[in-house]
Amino acid sequence: MADGAVRRVAIVGGGVGGLATAIRLQSAGHHVTLFERNDVVGGKLATYVRDGYTFDIGPSLVTLPDVFDEVFRAAGTTLAEHVDLVRLDPQFSYRWGDGSTLKVPDGDDDTAVAFDDFATGAGDEWRAFDARGRRIWDVAMRTFFAGPMSNPWSLAKRLRSPFDLTAIDPLRSLHRSASSFFDDPRLVQWADRYATYSGSSPFAAPATLACIPHIEARYGCWYPMGGLDELRAAFAWVASQIGVEIRTGTEVVSIEAAERVTGVVLADGSREAADIVVANTDAEHLYADLLHDSVALARVRLAKRSTSGFVLCLGVRGLTPNLTHHNIWFSDDYRSEYAQLDRGRLADEPTIYACVSSVTDPSQAPDGCENWFLLVNTPQGIEVDADAYGDLVLERLAARGTDLRPRIEFRHTMTPADIADRYRSPGGAIYGTSSNGKRAAFVRPSNRGSKPGLYLVGGSSHPGGGLPLVTTSAKIVAEMITADLAT
Ligand SMILES: Cc1cc2nc3c(=O)[nH]c(=O)nc-3n(C[C@H](O)[C@H](O)[C@H](O)COP(=O)(O)OP(=O)(O)OC[C@H]3O[C@@H](n4cnc5c(N)ncnc54)[C@H](O)[C@@H]3O)c2cc1C
Repeated sequence: MADGAVRRVAIVGGGVGGLATAIRLQSAGHHVTLFERNDVVGGKLATYVRDGYTFDIGPSLVTLPDVFDEVFRAAGTTLAEHVDLVRLDPQFSYRWGDGSTLKVPDGDDDTAVAFDDFATGAGDEWRAFDARGRRIWDVAMRTFFAGPMSNPWSLAKRLRSPFDLTAIDPLRSLHRSASSFFDDPRLVQWADRYATYSGSSPFAAPATLACIPHIEARYGCWYPMGGLDELRAAFAWVASQIGVEIRTGTEVVSIEAAERVTGVVLADGSREAADIVVANTDAEHLYADLLHDSVALARVRLAKRSTSGFVLCLGVRGLTPNLTHHNIWFSDDYRSEYAQLDRGRLADEPTIYACVSSVTDPSQAPDGCENWFLLVNTPQGIEVDADAYGDLVLERLAARGTDLRPRIEFRHTMTPADIADRYRSPGGAIYGTSSNGKRAAFVRPSNRGSKPGLYLVGGSSHPGGGLPLVTTSAKIVAEMITADLAT
């Protein structure tokens, strides 16, 4: 296999990680076929449309657009040619039970002023926290995100000095780090929330995640006009234009592998030969159901699944005062909220995230109406009574001064079980594997599969979930395949 020649590549799953890998490998000259069991590609990047309202029911926030642009450039085009991205300002409104609100603008100086206005001296605290995040990001980019993580040694090889390791702050929790920067407990909670971007707990995830608020501050929070579906459609269009064969409604039921992979078997019993198989499915589904590899499965299960979520899409009549595109209503006690989630229970006082993209993009709701996408963290694998928990979320929101109930035209919900079914995501884990614990980065499934010719891309494998990370995962896998073919 070490001749660098063209290969037949089968990609199992058409999430963003699968699509990005397909574009990269087809652009490198291979013949790529992508198999997606749903009728549309995009995976968790999905949309719900009803009565003139459009809801992004997966990702609602785009960060690091350059990561996507790099994929489009590999195919000879650019992201900007396909997607009209706008940089949001303000980025977020955060609200607390005492009635206080922090509206975070775009731009460092304005952000420092907003923090100062919120709490005396908090502007300087934010600058110090942001500088720490920048250091973490600068080092993480050329170490953690720059290649595979087959074992701690693969990371160690990319460190320039032992100071790099201390720079990424892997040993203390995000909460502990945030508490050392901010005096005001509300701002500690603000920083803590970034653990949820990887489906993790701020009390267990490493302080390394402090790079995420820095990424938002420095590189912006973005929205594609027309909704996130525009990004999904652009990935799918570019892939098909360069010759990737996309087969939707086509489930892979097993991967053939003796010494090395030789192909995939489809639900209709047909067989497709392949020299390389890239699994964009969850790693547990891959090893349990497609490969029946109990040793690899046991290793994969060392990694903890990320949290899941309860989604409530609401068509809402009328316009809500002081609403921004992204909004958070914090619970009064983050520690007990996470303690409940850790014990596998629903939070009875949940922090509520609301994306109302019609604030930026009137095409997403009828005139004079709003498309509310509410997301609440839940444990993975939990059964949720959608009506009852939906009522509780709306009641909590009302108690915080935003009573949507008299204005709701319809509700559409997604529970962890719905997420699990729709995307074959065990437990409905939103991000695949979590970052909880000091060993999380090392036990996350490797991009190299258990058989020669098999590779893993997407949220459950390195470097983790979220759109920029699964797209980075595609880069790592494409480079790994190229290197393997050359040796
Ligand atoms: C509610 C929610 C909110 C989120 N918010 C954000 C956000 O704001 N910002 C952000 O960056 N990220 C967010 N995420 C996370 C982000 O959506 C995911 O990390 C990312 O989309 C996962 O991409 P992936 O490549 O891992 O594949 P997935 O999206 O998991 O797709 C895998 C695909 O494989 C298919 N498949 C599985 N098994 C088979 C099989 N046997 N045969 C054929 N096909 C198969 C599935 O149908 C699916 O389409 C959110 C996710 C959810 C659910």
